[in-house]
Amino acid sequence: MTQYHPLTPQEAIELAKTLPGPFTADANLDCREIGDGNLNLVFHITDQNSDKSIIIKQALPYAKVVGESWPLSLVRARIEREILQEEYRLCPGMVPEVYHYDDDLALTVMEDLSDHVIMRKGLIDGASYPLFAQHIGEFMARTLFFTSDLGMNQQQKKEQQGRFVNPDQCKITEDLIFDEPYRIAQNNNYETAIEDEAEALRTDEALHLEIALLREKFLTHGQALLHGDLHTGSIFVTSESTKVIDPEFAFYGPMGFDVGAVLANLLLHYVSLSGRFQDQSTRNKRETELLDMVRDVWTEFDTRFRALWTTALVDPMAKTPGYQNLYVQQLFRDTIGFAGAKMVRRIVGLARVADIDTITDATEREHAQRKALAVGKALIKNNRHVNTIGEVLDLVSSAL
Ligand code: ADP
Ligand code: MG
Ligand code: MG
Repeated sequence: MTQYHPLTPQEAIELAKTLPGPFTADANLDCREIGDGNLNLVFHITDQNSDKSIIIKQALPYAKVVGESWPLSLVRARIEREILQEEYRLCPGMVPEVYHYDDDLALTVMEDLSDHVIMRKGLIDGASYPLFAQHIGEFMARTLFFTSDLGMNQQQKKEQQGRFVNPDQCKITEDLIFDEPYRIAQNNNYETAIEDEAEALRTDEALHLEIALLREKFLTHGQALLHGDLHTGSIFVTSESTKVIDPEFAFYGPMGFDVGAVLANLLLHYVSLSGRFQDQSTRNKRETELLDMVRDVWTEFDTRFRALWTTALVDPMAKTPGYQNLYVQQLFRDTIGFAGAKMVRRIVGLARVADIDTITDATEREHAQRKALAVGKALIKNNRHVNTIGEVLDLVSSAL
């Protein structure tokens, strides 16, 4: 057993040389720590004499952003690696391949995806991803369906649920998304220009009721194995390819939490566009593109999820006429509620998004923040009643 300690880049190189696979023992390796997150080290190891490279991701026992005072279990490294392997089985080519792992050191050695870009950055740079909705729709339909009681034996599912108990990571979500934005909390991190909005979030009891219900669902509804952190910073893209990374928040939860994360982050980018484009027609074009993506992500997911119901259902009771429609309707409503909650937390909570923070003009930035809150609140308040993505897009436009 190796005693846990955070690796230095030199130790990461030494480790890489011992792995069966990419490098020879005398390879001339370079290593850079490229992690941009708060919880982990990410080493990019390249061979100077070949085009071979790998990534080593190692969990830290605390959240960097707050310092060592916020301890976090290293179990999440094992969970991240196991769900990557599960997702690879269900959607080959849509997550990095795991080459090796060491649970004592809380690290995973995986495929280097540096030929892709992080989607949040790609969107900020103005790129388009015409295949994204199909790809992520397929990813979510397959990973959620096949890890739920619809697509998996009930007993096996319960055993799997036991392997993916992730209390420290869930608590981060429970606090940062379903609690702190709605009260005065030390972690909250919003600009003083929107103090009035933050105050309104704290006193809106109708909103609190919806958040309490969404929080309850997150706490209790072990529907499927979720990625748990499926924002555009956890998705690598090119114009042809989509790869999902960073599932360290994985646990058995409500499916709508993953689908809502994708929609929320597309909508956060959408509301940032007025602060990015001076030219009205360029802006309109890009806004239409983003709203089309929102619609297409839901539609692609919905179509593929229902198709699996026809081809891969293991629970005969789920064939009961009418059940599929009610199931997907509830999943849609959950998706919209969680999407709204994720938008709100990204404006007033601990972790903000670059889509909005990189708007340099303070007035435009404030405007985008207010728009995000208006859309987020509209989604949260209407989540229990919406039926179609068209209705949701109408809610978005009337909130602005
Ligand atoms: P964290 O959990 O700390 O957010 P991530 O898994 O999101 O860590 O990785 C942080 C960054 O490291 C990513 O944004 C990306 O730039 C880089 N990275 C992570 N995994 C890979 C990979 N497999 N290939 C290339 N770069 C990666
Ligand atoms: Mg990350
Ligand atoms: Mg992470």
